[in-house]
Amino acid sequence: MLSVPRPASLLLVALLATAGLALPSPRADAAPEVSVRQDPHQAEVLALARQVRARQRSLAALNRQADARDRALMGRRAVLATYGWTGDPERVTAVLPLASYTLSAGFGLTGPLWEAEHGGQDFSAPAGEQVVAVAAGTVTDVGDAGPYGLRTVVTLPDGTEVWYCHQTDAEVVAGQAVDVADPIGTVGSTGNTTGPHLHLEVRPDGGAPVDPYDWLVGAGLTP
Ligand SMILES: [Zn+2]
Repeated sequence: MLSVPRPASLLLVALLATAGLALPSPRADAAPEVSVRQDPHQAEVLALARQVRARQRSLAALNRQADARDRALMGRRAVLATYGWTGDPERVTAVLPLASYTLSAGFGLTGPLWEAEHGGQDFSAPAGEQVVAVAAGTVTDVGDAGPYGLRTVVTLPDGTEVWYCHQTDAEVVAGQAVDVADPIGTVGSTGNTTGPHLHLEVRPDGGAPVDPYDWLVGAGLTP
């Protein structure tokens, strides 16, 4: 059956012959000199393919890095938003010291609690609430400061001192660098207080205090 040419095949052969063509002989394909000779074009194509694969791998690695950076930035954005900064995380210079609080005694008040004018802004919050650094700087003092209780001083690059007073616990040590919104301690009522709150002071160049409320507003925040 197989050895008998089928009419359709015969017709094809006839057509090809008419067109001056011939069906390839099974023994005429794969001439040895063609298969052995290195095709320079094919080598180029293979090299290009390797380059494309390498580039795809490096792009994939870059994408993974970008994803990790996006996730870190999203996490950072959420942390900063918790402390009152909703702008670009890369442009933040200051945040609020607590996630939630009630503003109590303001700057410049006078009264029996203070020897002179009230030198800071009070933020009432439950004892143990997380206090974060309002700005990046270096911790320059941690310890008992009499009426200020357990006080942490962070000195900013421009020399401004930020005081965090009446804390229950300090979570940083002198000499340590802190970034904006880094945890530094917890709300307490150590020192001269009538209840748990954070007393925040801002002292440009380590001198006389200025109103922390205005200072925070000046940094783009809404205390
Ligand atoms: Zn106070």
